[in-house]
Amino acid sequence: MSQRLETVISDKAEVKDLLRSEVSQALEAVLSTAQGSAAFSGIDPIELRRRISCLDFLPEEGLGFTEALRLLKDEVLEHMLRTWSTQYMPHLHSPSLLESIACELIIASYNDSMDSWDQSPATTEVELAVVRQLCSLVGYGAHSDGVFTSGGSQSNLSAITGARDAWCRRKLGWDVKKHGNPREYSRLRLYTSAISHFSMEKSCHLLGLGYEAVVKLPVDDMCRIDLDKADGIIARDVAEGRLPFCIVATIGTTDYGSVDDLAGLRKLADKYGAHLHADAAYGSGALMSRRYRERIGDLSLADSVTVDFHKMFLLPISCSAILVKDAFLLDCFSLHADYLNREEDEEEGYVNLVGKSIQTTRRADALKVAFSFLVRGRKGFEEIIDTVIGNADHLYRLLEADDDFIAPVRPTLSSVVFALKGGDEVNKAARRRLMAEGLVLGQTVKDGRVMLKATLLNPALGEDDLAALLERVRFCRGA
Ligand SMILES: *Cc1c(COP(=O)(O)O)cnc(C)c1O
Repeated sequence: MSQRLETVISDKAEVKDLLRSEVSQALEAVLSTAQGSAAFSGIDPIELRRRISCLDFLPEEGLGFTEALRLLKDEVLEHMLRTWSTQYMPHLHSPSLLESIACELIIASYNDSMDSWDQSPATTEVELAVVRQLCSLVGYGAHSDGVFTSGGSQSNLSAITGARDAWCRRKLGWDVKKHGNPREYSRLRLYTSAISHFSMEKSCHLLGLGYEAVVKLPVDDMCRIDLDKADGIIARDVAEGRLPFCIVATIGTTDYGSVDDLAGLRKLADKYGAHLHADAAYGSGALMSRRYRERIGDLSLADSVTVDFHKMFLLPISCSAILVKDAFLLDCFSLHADYLNREEDEEEGYVNLVGKSIQTTRRADALKVAFSFLVRGRKGFEEIIDTVIGNADHLYRLLEADDDFIAPVRPTLSSVVFALKGGDEVNKAARRRLMAEGLVLGQTVKDGRVMLKATLLNPALGEDDLAALLERVRFCRGA
C-alpha cells in the first residue's frame, strides 16, 4: 500500500466518512472478542511472546487501516483480557462503562491538553467544575481545590509533596521549593498502615526521604491501623527526635478493602502536628452509596484525599484526582513559564491548570467523569456500588457457611480474600488452573498463608455467578 493516507480530521466529506468507517471497524473488532464468558484466551506466556515478537511493527510500507486492524485482532486482541468478563476478578482493575468508551473517542478526537487554558478552554472549565463537585461530595468547604492525575500513585505523590512543603514551612520556617531539603530532613517520618499501598515508599524515595521514612503501623484483625499501638509508636519516635510530618489513612486497602479509622487518625495527626492524607483510591466509590457510605468514614476529616475513577467508578484508565481541603497545598507545583502560563493570564481570568499538577501535557480525563455522572446521575452510580459491595457481602456469607474454605477478613468494600483448606500449594495450583480456563482470580498472602482474592468490581456479576465461582474453585482442589 503506497497511496498517501489521510491524516487528521477535516471538513472534507471523504475524511469524515473514513473516520466513521475506521471507528466502526475498530468497534466491531472489539465486539467480536466479546463472546462467551471467559476473561482470557488462556494462551501460554511463552507462546504469546513468540507470536507477538515475530511481528514486524515498523514495516517500510504501511499495511493500511483494514489490514493492520486484522493483524491486531488476530494476534493481540484475541489475547487481551476481557475486563468486562464476570470471570475477571484479580485486581482493582475495572471494566469500562459503555458511555465512557464513547467519551474516550471524544477525548482522543479533540486531544485537549490540560496544562493551559489556550490548549483546553472548555475542558479546563469542566475540570474546575468537576473538582468543585467532588470536593462538595467529600464534604470539603470553600477553600478546597484539586486536580486530575494519572492515577492513585501520582495523586498520593502530589499529596505527600504538598504535605512535606507545608509542614516544612509551618514547623521549620523552611521553603523546600526554593532551598531543597532542610537540615532536619532525615528525621521526617510518614506513618501509614503495614498494608498500605507501595506508592507511600515510592513517594518518599522520590522526595529524597527514602523508604525508611515510611513507618508501617500494625493492623488489627479487621486489617485497620491499630490506633493505640500507632500512638505508642509515634510517641516513641517523637521522644527519639523524629518528626511526624504526615499520617496516611488507607480508605480501602488494595487487598482487603479495609478502611482505617479517619476520626481516630485525625486526633493523632492533630496531637503530633502532622498532615492527614486519605488514600481513598479504592474506597472513594462508596461516596455514591447512601447505604455503604458510612463504611468509609468522613473523608472531610482528611487534609487531602486521593480518588481513583478507574477502580470502583468503572472509568477507563487513567482517571484519578487529588483533592485538598486548602488550595495552598497544591502551590508546591506552581511555576511560571513565559511560553505557557504567564502570570498575567490569571489576572485576566484564564486558568492554567499546570500550576497544580506534576504533569505538563495532560489528558482531559475529567470529561469522562463529567459525562458518566451526567449519563447515570448519583443514583446510577449508587446502584453500581450497592451491587458490588452487596456481592462481596454475599460471597463472604457463602464462604463462612462452607467447610471447604476459610475467609479470614469480613469485607468492607468489594474484595474478598479466601482460601481452600489444604494449604498453599493447593491454592496456588487452583489459581493457575483457573487462569488457563479463563477465570482470573487474585492471589495474596495473609499471616504467611497463600490466599485467593476475588475483587468484585463488575456490577454484571450476580449471586449465581458467585456460587458457581466457589464450585469451580472447589473442583480444583480435587484435580
Ligand atoms: C490502586 C491503588 C493505588 C494506586 O493507584 P494507581 O491508580 O494504580 O496509581 C494507591 N492506593 C491504593 C489504596 C490503591 O488501591
